[in-house]
Amino acid sequence: MKRGAMVPLVSYVDGEYVGDHLGGPGTHDRENPADVAEVVSTARWADPAIAEHAVASARAASSSWQATPAPVRGDVLRRCADLLEQRTAAIAQDMAREQGKTVPEAAGEVGRSVAILRYFAAQTLAPDGSSYPSHQAGTRLFSRRIPVGVVSAITPWNFPLAIPVWKIAPALAYGNTVVWKPSEVVPLTSTALLAAFIDAGLPGGVLHMLLGGGAGLGPALYDVDAVTFTGSTSVGREVVLPAAVASGAQVQLELGGKNVAVVLADADLDLAVAQVARGAFLSAGQKCTATSLVLAQESIRAELAARLSAWAAAAVVGDPRASATEIGPLATAAQLERYESFLDPAAHGGTVIAGGRGPAGGHFARPAVICDADPHSRASRDEIFAPIAVLEPVADLSDALRRANETHFGLTASIFTSELAAAYRFIDEIETGIVKVNQESAGLEFHVPFGGIKDSGYGPAEQGLAAQEFYTRSKTVYLTHAG
Ligand code: NDP
Repeated sequence: MKRGAMVPLVSYVDGEYVGDHLGGPGTHDRENPADVAEVVSTARWADPAIAEHAVASARAASSSWQATPAPVRGDVLRRCADLLEQRTAAIAQDMAREQGKTVPEAAGEVGRSVAILRYFAAQTLAPDGSSYPSHQAGTRLFSRRIPVGVVSAITPWNFPLAIPVWKIAPALAYGNTVVWKPSEVVPLTSTALLAAFIDAGLPGGVLHMLLGGGAGLGPALYDVDAVTFTGSTSVGREVVLPAAVASGAQVQLELGGKNVAVVLADADLDLAVAQVARGAFLSAGQKCTATSLVLAQESIRAELAARLSAWAAAAVVGDPRASATEIGPLATAAQLERYESFLDPAAHGGTVIAGGRGPAGGHFARPAVICDADPHSRASRDEIFAPIAVLEPVADLSDALRRANETHFGLTASIFTSELAAAYRFIDEIETGIVKVNQESAGLEFHVPFGGIKDSGYGPAEQGLAAQEFYTRSKTVYLTHAG
């Protein structure tokens, strides 16, 4: 028996919440992943006609938003940041109930979103072009960054506030209108973000939110000027990329990862254990930047495995709203099934020395350590997206680099060493978009470029000044004084 049926959350199109009069394929309940008997939200899904209406409305609103002075656009973002900050406690509680991350993790995500909004608000006062000397007398030659137009943003459930914000904030700051499709798993947090933008005074038509499944709504979202997507490599590469390119949109994909931590024999082992455990297990491993494969130099392999397994065994897994909890549940039943599938001996060929299901009643998984996995196994090759650290021994740095670069992903990697030469070589030779030395693979700052290579990404990086490249185009002006 489910508890907590409620008034459905709805999409927001053309400055209005889309009520029953626009139809849509029914309502969908979202359960609390820590207490599956509790319904956290009910959402009425939009249908493709509503999505098409959103794109048309975003197109119609484009010229007036482009004509709005950039600093005025920035003021809206600043007010939105202030509102989110004031609402932190309530949003963090709801995010914990809906997505499963702990309240401190959720509050941290709200804080990060506030910082991103303020950063892009400040960017609306930054130079928006360059001036060049011309070969022609009396000519001013300059280039300006101008908005691309209408942007579709498709976002996942694991950072339900921060990922939408790091797409929507730069898109709006640089003068674009946005059609946003959040993950069906997180309608409550998504609605809270939308409400902050509305309350901040964002004009109708500038931002639209579509609740519903990607397979149904996706096809309506590509006839735009740019598509930014974060999610799985399979959906991004096989569905979104070809469809968006065919419609002439520019595309940015942030995808999965198989992030490696190399631990050399000369590493500070206390530091390495603490950082690898954080990277692999916090947020229940559901970060695209989570540490998944640990390559340990032979002489410290056994000690590293034992200490990681002790960390895993001691971790408090439970209700994300309880103050003692370090690791909340996985977000969905499918995620828990996926976690368990990786612990099957056929999936790794090694030895599971910690892990297994957590408390009953929710999608709880204990942090797991798999030792001496077969390098050709699924656990050693695929993205896991759950709290599992897979350990493989390596002979030395060259062996670690060879093994790390075999993966078809290229998001982030870290190395633990006290040798500067080893750190430099790793920085130079690892094939990833982000590399860290003596730090966990996750935990990134918001004002620097973020993006992966190989199967982890496509198109320009996100965040920081890199965002300008995707959300604007260049217009070059030759201005000669007549007479
Ligand atoms: P999915 O790829 O399943 O979904 C991402 C988004 O795409 C959701 O909004 C989803 O909608 C939508 N979608 C699903 N199917 C389609 C389709 N056929 N057409 C258009 N849109 C579609 O990923 P998850 O939400 O499960 O997120 C986890 C994945 O995201 C992991 O692989 C992770 O590595 C990656 N990720 C990458 C990050 C990065 O920056 N590199 C950051 C965070 C996560 P719906 O689910 O509502 O149907």
